[in-house]
Amino acid sequence: MGLELTVLGCAGSHPGPGRLCSGYLVRSGRTTILLDAGNGSTANLQRLVPLQALDAVVISHRHVDHCIDLIGMYYALRFDPSTVGRIPLYAAPEVHGTLTGLLSSDSQMPFDEVFRHTEVGAGDEVLVGDLALRFAHSVHVAPTVSVRVEVDGTSLVYSGDSAGGPDLVRIASGADLFLCEATWAGDADLYPEGVHLTARQAAEVAAEADVGRLVLTHIAGGTDREQVLREAREVFDGSVELAEDLALYRLP
Ligand SMILES: [Zn+2]
Ligand SMILES: [Zn+2]
Repeated sequence: MGLELTVLGCAGSHPGPGRLCSGYLVRSGRTTILLDAGNGSTANLQRLVPLQALDAVVISHRHVDHCIDLIGMYYALRFDPSTVGRIPLYAAPEVHGTLTGLLSSDSQMPFDEVFRHTEVGAGDEVLVGDLALRFAHSVHVAPTVSVRVEVDGTSLVYSGDSAGGPDLVRIASGADLFLCEATWAGDADLYPEGVHLTARQAAEVAAEADVGRLVLTHIAGGTDREQVLREAREVFDGSVELAEDLALYRLP
């Protein structure tokens, strides 16, 4: 078995009708990790695996649409007698402070009793079971990492929130599947710089990185999804799909 990716939530910035915020379950034959834990995403997670089955959690950045469900996980795991040990948490700078700040009014409930936190940044590499994780700096309005996951020559790259740039192209290079944010559609001039990607910009990164397959996620609620798909396909010749909650992708 190579890699399996299940989309738990793919809404951009806030949940929408029937669509949860960023969360992605990645599994190999023997390792299970969660990439991001945005609003509601761990509800879908628990339809597939118990929280205790996670070998690690990766959080791309401190924005709530990527990390807030760790508070719910904290309560679920803290009071479940079957919980054994702490879950390794690899997170961008400021994630740990943001989450512990939300719990700080109750000093009896230390976050670190449930999660074993390690801050990660550009160039860091971590082995979780048989999954090799590598992190890159992502251009965004908060400290953010992109992550590459590999096993047995199969690779998946998740952009996190990103405005693109050479670091994203480098880490995505040759990936079998590139899960890339495309928050907006239309002309990039319509939007602030350094925050997110448009569909065309995401597709340009995919083309430059020569990825096998592009899955677009984090599409904003007000963005026309069909326009995102159409514009990305104008730029990238390979397979382009829009992420859907609970969609499953199998990589060889
Ligand atoms: Zn976001
Ligand atoms: Zn963000």
